[in-house]
Amino acid sequence: MLKGKVAVVTGGSRGIGRAVCLELAERGADVAFLYAGNEEAASETLSALQARGVRAGAYRCDVSDAAAVKACMAQLLAEFGTVDILVNNAGITRDKLAMTMSEEDFTRVLSVNLSGAFYCARQIIPVLVRKKSGRIINIASVSGLMGNPGQSNYAASKAGLIGLTKTLARELASRNITCNAVAPGFVETDMTASLSGGGGSLAESIPLRRFARAEEVAKLVVFLASPDAAYITGEVIRIDGGLAI
Ligand code: NAP
Repeated sequence: MLKGKVAVVTGGSRGIGRAVCLELAERGADVAFLYAGNEEAASETLSALQARGVRAGAYRCDVSDAAAVKACMAQLLAEFGTVDILVNNAGITRDKLAMTMSEEDFTRVLSVNLSGAFYCARQIIPVLVRKKSGRIINIASVSGLMGNPGQSNYAASKAGLIGLTKTLARELASRNITCNAVAPGFVETDMTASLSGGGGSLAESIPLRRFARAEEVAKLVVFLASPDAAYITGEVIRIDGGLAI
């Protein structure tokens, strides 16, 4: 389904990003992913991609550093020749109640989660515009839709990402490029490892009574990247077990 396509996934070494990389490769796409610094996780993901018989590349790059993103995307484009799909997935949390949150914690989360997505999109958009086709998928969160105590930085970054998604969708629709956001609830990854996914009180607050598996989110992302989703743009799709109903 995605044979001949090249996908770039930020934060591809672990969690949801890793699952997205593997699902894209299952569908035949070549996959380049960015990661922050976890070499062990990156090399595991790289091997798993190569085992699926696609071209794969791992690029260490802090998405909050505009110059580093520019250099990384240039290198990646030189090596892969093109890009068809961008998945802005890299993200962090630094939770604290607003009254005790430092400026550093606020701005760092905004820089990685929101500015990082913008920097990556800005480098890839000219390639997609020249091809008159492409897909951008941003991983937001239900926090950006509902707000969440302790996450003023994170919720603001994800709400901002939704605004970015809708704007890019409008800017790029005439070039046959779609841009959508996926808004997960709780997903079983390192980010939520300290929370209870198995059956604790948090899981009980979710109508479907469990956290999502990263693979479930990945399948939605890959659907949005596929030809079947050609007429969907500017959309925010919740995948949250009913959390934000
Ligand atoms: P995770 O398991 O903590 O993995 C984070 C990934 O992002 C890693 O690959 C990490 O690289 C990379 N990363 C972090 N900071 C980066 C930076 N500055 N530059 C480049 N890469 C960076 O996270 P996750 O749970 O899979 O979350 C992925 C996305 O889904 C995030 O945007 C998150 O906000 C969103 N989300 C998650 C949940 C959830 O419940 N897990 C819910 C809603 C939304 P290294 O491996 O090198 O550190």
